[in-house]
Amino acid sequence: MADLLAPGARLTERLGPLRIRLAADRLDALLITQPANIFYLSNFKGSAGMLLVTPDDACLVTDSRYATVAQALVAASAAEAPLTVVQVEWSYEETVCAVLTDVGVSRVGFETAHMTVARHDWLERGLAGSGVTLRGTTGLVESFRQVKDADELATMREAGGRISLVMEQVLQRLRVGRTEREVAADIDWAIRGAGFDGPAFETIVAGGPNTALPHARPGDRRLAPGDLVLLDFGGIYHGYCVDLTRMASLGTPDPAALAWHAAVREAHAAALAAVGPGVRASAVDTAARMVLERRGLGAAFAHGTGHGLGVEVHEAPRVGKHRPAAAFPGSGDEVADVRLEPGMVFTVEPGVYLPGHGGVRLEDDLVVTADGYELLTHVSLDLLVIDDAPV
Ligand code: ZN
Ligand code: ZN
Repeated sequence: MADLLAPGARLTERLGPLRIRLAADRLDALLITQPANIFYLSNFKGSAGMLLVTPDDACLVTDSRYATVAQALVAASAAEAPLTVVQVEWSYEETVCAVLTDVGVSRVGFETAHMTVARHDWLERGLAGSGVTLRGTTGLVESFRQVKDADELATMREAGGRISLVMEQVLQRLRVGRTEREVAADIDWAIRGAGFDGPAFETIVAGGPNTALPHARPGDRRLAPGDLVLLDFGGIYHGYCVDLTRMASLGTPDPAALAWHAAVREAHAAALAAVGPGVRASAVDTAARMVLERRGLGAAFAHGTGHGLGVEVHEAPRVGKHRPAAAFPGSGDEVADVRLEPGMVFTVEPGVYLPGHGGVRLEDDLVVTADGYELLTHVSLDLLVIDDAPV
């Protein structure tokens, strides 16, 4: 299993550009507390840990629960850029203050979006008089994470293939009379059975009028004849998330449902056709939105067209309406309207939602390539009609 984590040399390649950026920002080190950022730079996945990146070291601070895992990561790290581990004795804050004082750095960046005020205050007090000062940063590691490297893409391609097979299987097994909750439990079972670490988010199974809720939670409603059914689920595969949505109909769909499905499918195709390097992410959203507006469904498309995907199921880039620069400098970086680059991975998931009636969403994952895109998920976009649905 460890062979599917990024090799030590790859982690060294990821640390390189970050160090250049730190130097440009006149920072001696970066204290990373966001778990996904820690994983990206060290392969460490735990519920607690901090990573201190200095010009020539990456030091993982963690506690005794992770001692064995941490030692394995140290052994696997590249000789030219070794990972070191410091084990917490009493508290993370005390340990980090001691490490920072020891390594002789003065300006240390921290992640403003991922540190509590209490922890920040503790560190400031602990570092008083040491010559170490904390400087806020936003979205530093995240900005690198949005362009995937070859190892990440290989993992995500494999994950996309596996989640597609799960979708094909569970669509075929949909039956009248089962509750949304039962179907969701089957899906979660199938996700783990397909080799995933687990679901990437709470599996969505919505039937009939519940399809009008973009983030429906599976409940006790039983699937009924004539229902539209929306399945939206994802899995985490060796640390990376994939996310897929398809639709089925239990029996002959009504004409309105067919019209929504046709419109969303056209919007999905328009969004894909807009993808390419140099294009603004918002242009992909606009392409989908214009189709739905032409079909009189613009108001029914209540969310953005997609979201970045990787170590987290929602990450940069954001694929939504263009937004002018943030009102507060440094804030809102995570919602920036970026220009697409080869290696960026995101979802395309237009949808329409008509409260009280129903809704349709179709979602795929893709990676931007030098001349367009490559789909990571592969399931027919047809509305699967299950005619002979036995009770
Ligand atoms: Zn989804
Ligand atoms: Zn999604």
